[in-house]
Amino acid sequence: MSARPPELTALHLRMAELSDLHSLDLLLFWDQQTVMPPAGAEARAERAATVARVVHARESDAELGTLLETLVDWAESEDPDADDVRLVHWARRDFERSVRVPVELAADITKAKSLGQQAWQEARAANDFGRFRGALARHIELRHRYVECFEGHEHPYDVLLDDFEPGLTTAELRPLFQGLREALVPLVTAAGRPDQPRNGGVFHGHFPVVDQQVALLDMLEAVGFDPDGWRLDPTVHPFAAGIAPRDIRLTTKYDEGDLAVALYSGLHEFGHGLYESATDPALFRTSLDTPVSLGVHESQSRTWENVIGRSRAFSAWLLPRLHASLPGALPDVDATGLYRALNTVQPSLVRTDADETTYNLHIILRFELELALTEGSLSVDELPDAWDEGMERLLGVSPPGPADGVLQDVHWGAGLFGYFPTYTIGNLMASQLWERLSADVPDVEQRIENGDFAPVREWLREHVHRHGRKFPPRELLRRVTGSELSAEPFLRYLREKLADAGVLA
Ligand code: ZN
Repeated sequence: MSARPPELTALHLRMAELSDLHSLDLLLFWDQQTVMPPAGAEARAERAATVARVVHARESDAELGTLLETLVDWAESEDPDADDVRLVHWARRDFERSVRVPVELAADITKAKSLGQQAWQEARAANDFGRFRGALARHIELRHRYVECFEGHEHPYDVLLDDFEPGLTTAELRPLFQGLREALVPLVTAAGRPDQPRNGGVFHGHFPVVDQQVALLDMLEAVGFDPDGWRLDPTVHPFAAGIAPRDIRLTTKYDEGDLAVALYSGLHEFGHGLYESATDPALFRTSLDTPVSLGVHESQSRTWENVIGRSRAFSAWLLPRLHASLPGALPDVDATGLYRALNTVQPSLVRTDADETTYNLHIILRFELELALTEGSLSVDELPDAWDEGMERLLGVSPPGPADGVLQDVHWGAGLFGYFPTYTIGNLMASQLWERLSADVPDVEQRIENGDFAPVREWLREHVHRHGRKFPPRELLRRVTGSELSAEPFLRYLREKLADAGVLA
């Protein structure tokens, strides 16, 4: 082992500054989504643009490049698992990605993003795909120019995936999603009942927001929400913001007619927040102090929302708790009935309303269409028909119009391609991790039923959370489970649960 080079101290100073800037940027976003008065939007856009400019300048600073070059030999002579060696690796990757994209192209992409979101909003409100057509074509053109900035990829879509799920390739994803599709379509046909309400309707009723807040916080504090280091606010689109390990901000939305909306989006965001709260303090204010990918992040939210939140043990724990915190709620159901209701399958039009079984088919459709648009085998004009055909083929439903069809998600409006697959990657990883967790904590179901969530939190911290961005997603999964990304554990879990809940005869 060689002596610690002075360049490493200089790198740490730069990474701390970048980590602070990213955190400030997130704070501006959180503030805008939760408490900023609407009239503040214009001034806020200026402030946010300045932060983004400073971040880009720091990330692509030539002096940073020189610093990193001088550290390459040192890093190669050290333990490859040392925090600082991994820091040099990720800092080099981030630097190379930021200098490859010309400033003008980055500016064009930013501009197209805001124009595209605007066009998408108008098109969706008017239920008219034609109004979004031009913006989408522009996004696709810009994505092609973006891909051309990079070398050494087998498929152009690999470059887009890499921004959200480092290392994942189209060659790997295509057969994985194909196998998942071939297993899920017959499963949905066997278990699905399109006419039944979401969650069997057991959460329907009238629940004033103030009462829901009490019940939600009661549940979240029991699973691990720490009032001294976390907060919860209402928003239109729920999200979690990890400002710092002891400053975790969850948001949720309330539907006074459906209690499940707040409870389950709350559990989902709790999973994201827990991940961000448990990074190793030694990584704080380095570029390793963030989650490693959207897929791994989503695996954590889905673990709490679905794997735990829709289990038999959790249903048995939750029901009396809800009866105590929200008197009069769910009067006609017992724990077995709740468990069954939480796992009902109903093919539906809108991804964000989808149950756990049909959800991934929504993602697979988007992946297939994105791939065809990227390869050029599908034109923007053909997209609405291809969407409707796909919904019919995969889920047996026909959208009445583009607003609840091809225009339902904001992602394409913002030019985000390669993002959707990470939702399904998260679902698959959650099952892979849970198989390992259950082997390590054999009485986990009993613990959950008793309301003892500490063993789950501790296992996730030890095996996933504390590493932050130290290990790439594929390596992390291999280290924890010994396996590659696979759909089998998820399918096994789903079939067993649907049969156990009496949803699948
Ligand atoms: Zn999420």
